[in-house]
Amino acid sequence: MKLEDFGKKYIFLPDATRGAVRFLTSQQLKETGTEGIVTNTLHLLMSPGPDRIQELGGIKKFMNWNGLVLTDSGGFQVFSLIHSKKWIGKVHENGATFKSPLTGDVYELTPESSIDIQIKLGSDILVTLDDCRKANLTRKEAEESVERTVRWAKRCKEHFEKEYGGTKETGKLLSCVVQGANYLDLRKECAQELSKMNFDGYNFGGYVVDDKGKLVLGEMKAVIENTPKDKFKYAMGVGKPDDMRKAAEIGYKVFDTVLVTRNARHGTLYSSDIEGEVLRIRNSEYSNDEKPIDSKCDCYTCKNHSRAYVHQMLKVGEATGMTLATIHNLRYYQRLIEGLSQIYP
Ligand SMILES: [Zn+2]
Repeated sequence: MKLEDFGKKYIFLPDATRGAVRFLTSQQLKETGTEGIVTNTLHLLMSPGPDRIQELGGIKKFMNWNGLVLTDSGGFQVFSLIHSKKWIGKVHENGATFKSPLTGDVYELTPESSIDIQIKLGSDILVTLDDCRKANLTRKEAEESVERTVRWAKRCKEHFEKEYGGTKETGKLLSCVVQGANYLDLRKECAQELSKMNFDGYNFGGYVVDDKGKLVLGEMKAVIENTPKDKFKYAMGVGKPDDMRKAAEIGYKVFDTVLVTRNARHGTLYSSDIEGEVLRIRNSEYSNDEKPIDSKCDCYTCKNHSRAYVHQMLKVGEATGMTLATIHNLRYYQRLIEGLSQIYP
């Protein structure tokens, strides 16, 4: 996919946290039909560092990946690690200050530094730093999060324009994140404020499912209705097949989730042969099953291996099992994306 088509056609971005989709080479990834990936700014910041990646020609050359790359702002990861007290650090008006558990080095992630890092990594689609918080926010907390998210988005945008010449000079896209928790009026307000700044894309931030695991469609609609029609809409973290269909129906075109690859490694595979689409390959019923994981799938795994083989490889912890399962799940999602354009063009 060309960058100018990003968000006009459906795209699913698997997670390549540290510069690889786990257990796959870039070639294997490409063969699943994957057109873009998400890499993690925080992890790459700490190792090998944005300067090293820039010296090596950027993340795409480093990975030998000629598809698209979207980088996150680094905020979501670092704030949740600080909030859960897994990492030592502080979130403040200027961003976050934190200590790397790897080296003990102290880092500061600000709206400006987040843009600088994403530029050095060689990302195609950048994301502004936003004030993302835990689930179930009080009204006051959600208001604070919206206000700070808007302030930080403005700083990111100004820095991107002044320092790099913006989208015009760099050819890169800059998207922002809409917060507001489960308060519809705050979602609307945040979306409208951000729309005044004219971003290339609008991402749904915060939790995408409620306590019962149900997609927050009302909040997601509020973002669609209050942002420019001609800019891409990214349903961050929406990943269950049915949730993706629901999000596509209301206008989201860009998707990512860590679930697809993580589930694969844990033996939770997707198959149109199974009611509910989920096939738990580790179950003993598959130990003798010579059928492919999905009879309609055209992936390497389904064309060459049986359920029994994948079952056995995962059971004994062979890396090949992880590779085969990941290839299948990613291909399943690509086919799902292809199908969406037929149903909701
Ligand atoms: Zn398959």
